[in-house]
Formats: sequence, C-alpha cells, structure tokens
Amino acid sequence: MGFMKTVETEAIVLHASDYGESDRIVSFYTLEAGLVRGIAKGARRSRKRFVNSLETGSVVHLSYRVRRGLFWVEGCKLLELHEPLRSDFFRWGHACLLCEAVLRMSPEGLNQPELFHLLRRGLERLGSDRDPWNVTALFLLRLVVLSGNMPALERCSQCGKGLERGQGWIWNLPRGLLLCSEHGLQPSESVSLDRGSVLLMRLAAAAPPEKLWRMRFRKDAARALVRAMATWMEHQSGRRLRCMKILNPPGAVPLPQKERNHRGMDESI
Ligand SMILES: [Zn+2]
Repeated sequence: MGFMKTVETEAIVLHASDYGESDRIVSFYTLEAGLVRGIAKGARRSRKRFVNSLETGSVVHLSYRVRRGLFWVEGCKLLELHEPLRSDFFRWGHACLLCEAVLRMSPEGLNQPELFHLLRRGLERLGSDRDPWNVTALFLLRLVVLSGNMPALERCSQCGKGLERGQGWIWNLPRGLLLCSEHGLQPSESVSLDRGSVLLMRLAAAAPPEKLWRMRFRKDAARALVRAMATWMEHQSGRRLRCMKILNPPGAVPLPQKERNHRGMDESI
C-alpha cells in the first residue's frame, strides 16, 4: 500500500448515518473537492472523538484519506455548530432542507466552491433572518442557477412576449422555461408568479453573493418558489426531500388532492 496523502479542507456536514456496529457514513460538501462521502471509523463507539462535528449543518475542518476508492475520515474538528438553528424546530427544518438539496443535486466529483460558500452563508442567515422561507427560496434559486437549469427570465418562451408586457407568469421547472399566463399550464412542478417576483428572481440569479440575502420575495411567492423547486429537485434526483415534511406539517398547508397523488404522498401526510 503506497503512501496516501491526507486531504485537509473546510467542509459542511450534509448527512450522517450509522454503518455497521461502530462506524458512521458521513456526506460532506467540501471546499476543496465538492461532495465527499466518507467513513468515520469508530464514530458510533467513540462520540468523544467527533463531538458535535458529525451533525448535519456543522461547519468543520475535515481531514481524510482516499484508500481503495473509499474516503476515510481521519479528523473532523468543529468550526461552527450554528447553535441558533438547533433550538428552533422550523429554522432547523429549513437548514436540513438546504443540506439535503445540496446532497441530492450535487454530482460527486464536481467541485463548486461557490456552492460551499452559498451553503455556509445560507445556514448562517437562517439563524438570524426574520423569514426563513425567503432565505430558503434565495438559496434554492442559486442552486438551480449552479445546476444550469435557470431560464433567461426575459420573455415568454412560446410567444416572445416581454416581461414588461404581462403581469402573470409561469416558471416551468421541468422544461426550464418562463411562460406567460396564456401559454403556461400549471402542473405541479410549475410555479405561478407575478411580474415583480420574476424581476426579483432575475436579480437574485445574478447578484453578487454579498447582496443576495438582502432581497425579499413576497411571503406567498417565497413559499410557492420553495415548494416548486423542492418538488422539481425530488423528480430530478428520484429521491424524496424528507425535510419538506418539517416545513409542511400535517394540516398546515394542504395540497390539492391531485398534487398529493402526483407526488406519491400517503394520506397521512
Ligand atoms: Zn406567451
């Protein structure tokens, strides 16, 4: 076995699960290598060695080795626990959704440092912003931009009508199109938006990172955007975003029956 260099990087814990009797498998988004899934030997037995550092949302200094095609966690030192998030159930749900969305949407082996910074700032912002839905909407929008699926938000893709000439618009996520209200049908992965929200989306898609978090969608627009983008990400990845259950508690926001069936939800949700 040749010498294997240890990689050191800042990272954010996306998810951790038990593996075997004593280990844990941990997914990180790292600054140096994008998405990394590593085995933390003994992490179940000796929690002391990884105090709080394998919790979802934690920012850590990670060191790992690559051996036999697997990533082995050597050390994981906590840098930021995001304490304010962990004492608030709904903010925590939003934080988990951010992490889960990155886990589902980032291909392994693709390194996007701007995604690391976006997630880190998004988690910080969730701890303090008065409207977590707005933070999540901005975050997911930028994730759609980074995945290359954001349409040019200038005119109806079908009739060419300019944004300035219509009040009602439809963003069709599966087809990656902006459509005017006459040409956009509304399946479950589309979202209906007023012109002001589309203009704000356009600004948010291109804003420098330090200006992003000051932008504010109307409350209903932020919620509609989050739901539509989350549903689209579920279909893209073929996996449920489990954290959406925390944000949509039973009875709070009933979906139309048709949409519930379409999304394969059981009746108890
Ligand atoms: Zn049109």
